Amino acid sequence: MTTTSLQELYVEQLQDLYDAEQQIIKALPKMIDAAQAEELRDGLSEHLEVTKQQAARIEKICQDLGEKPQKEKCKGMEGVLKEGGDLVKDVENPEVRDAAIIAAAQRVEHYEMAGYGTARTYATLLGYDDAASALEQTLEEEKEADATLSGLAGKLNVEALDEDTAGTSATHESKRPSSKREMPKSGRGKHAA
Ligand code: FE
Ligand code: ZN
Ligand code: FE
Repeated sequence: MTTTSLQELYVEQLQDLYDAEQQIIKALPKMIDAAQAEELRDGLSEHLEVTKQQAARIEKICQDLGEKPQKEKCKGMEGVLKEGGDLVKDVENPEVRDAAIIAAAQRVEHYEMAGYGTARTYATLLGYDDAASALEQTLEEEKEADATLSGLAGKLNVEALDEDTAGTSATHESKRPSSKREMPKSGRGKHAA
């Protein structure tokens, strides 16, 4: 299909975002299952509900334009989710896995923010004021989700790090080079001196 106008580009962006949201709606329950920390599970569950509303918002916008929301495949989100899923799958330690889930989820939010910022700007330029404010609302929700994840990372990444430094015993020992294991300790020693 050739795109000849900003109007067409706008519709394509909406359809792409719609597919991205559908993919996220499918992926989030798996991320929730894989998460250990209750606050992470809660945060992701809440964003799943918000995501369903975001998809409905695009349906409404497309309906008002006389367009179908289902048309595009968001290959970008497919890649982002695939990479995130692979990353999380490979982590056995639950604390470190939570850190990986946050990393994957923040990539998703940033990818969405890029798309919604563009779509919102097109809507404004094309004079679709209601659509522009609906898209702006979604953009704000994605930013909020990202900020929530950053807040969780502030706590949970530290727990994953503790897991690391405690990892001198048991299973991690054989996998890690001893020089790396000693590094944080000598670093701390210098500060204390
Ligand atoms: Fe979303
Ligand atoms: Zn896309
Ligand atoms: Fe989101």
